[in-house]
Amino acid sequence: MDINIYRIHIVTIFPELFTSFLETSFIKKSQLLQNNLKVEFVIYNLRDFAFDKHKKVDDEPYGGGCGMILKPEPIFYAIRHIKKNIEKKERIESTRTILLSPQGKIFDQNIAKTFANIDRINNLILICGRYEGFDERVLSIVDEEISIGNFVLNGGELPAMVIAEAVIRLLPGILGNENSYKNDSFYNENNLLDYPQFTRPSNFENLEVPEILLSGDHKKIKEWRKEQAFLNTHKKRPDLKKPKN
Ligand code: SAM
Repeated sequence: MDINIYRIHIVTIFPELFTSFLETSFIKKSQLLQNNLKVEFVIYNLRDFAFDKHKKVDDEPYGGGCGMILKPEPIFYAIRHIKKNIEKKERIESTRTILLSPQGKIFDQNIAKTFANIDRINNLILICGRYEGFDERVLSIVDEEISIGNFVLNGGELPAMVIAEAVIRLLPGILGNENSYKNDSFYNENNLLDYPQFTRPSNFENLEVPEILLSGDHKKIKEWRKEQAFLNTHKKRPDLKKPKN
């Protein structure tokens, strides 16, 4: 039986930031074989691809200005190295190379779904920036720039973790029960938020759980949840696209 491996390659100047991320909770579990699939993380230190005496990965911007810019050479060399290794093992067209940048396309559940389509993609290369960002020529060697939102962080490491986690939980068999993500906000075909959820106790400081959820009538509960998902979306995120009929 063939074993599927989904590889996430991360290029960073701070590999140590990933230590606890990789060793905790379901990210740790995803690296063990489950339902014929496992995730493999490969973390690369960008400095290992700087071949000058001082392993210099940044330099001052041409034209002046504050801060430092990540030089193109180490990033080109890192990506070429990773792709060469992928080619030895599998089809290179199964690889997507992403530059993490606040200037990129905003990451969402649809992009996560695309990256988690293991028949088409099984190698994700995530390049983390730092300082004032990248030399613009780096854009010629990546597939796309991705942002995790309209704000600026100091580095691409947290965005890389965000994307990795959102993608991994959608890989077939990783969460055990597909329904745990298929019922989630944004996943369902209507692009709705999840319905409101409650757990014990049924009354906490006079805050009551809706009676229908205690009724045991599963048909009615299903209908209620559907209706509540619409109301929830309308109340919290009226900007989301209108559901398809
Ligand atoms: N000067 C850049 C600009 O204004 O577009 C911002 C550079 S930021 C301080 C340093 C690095 O953090 C970026 O190169 C990128 O890798 C990462 N980063 C910051 N905010 C991000 C976001 N919203 N999404 C993805 N990556 C981000």
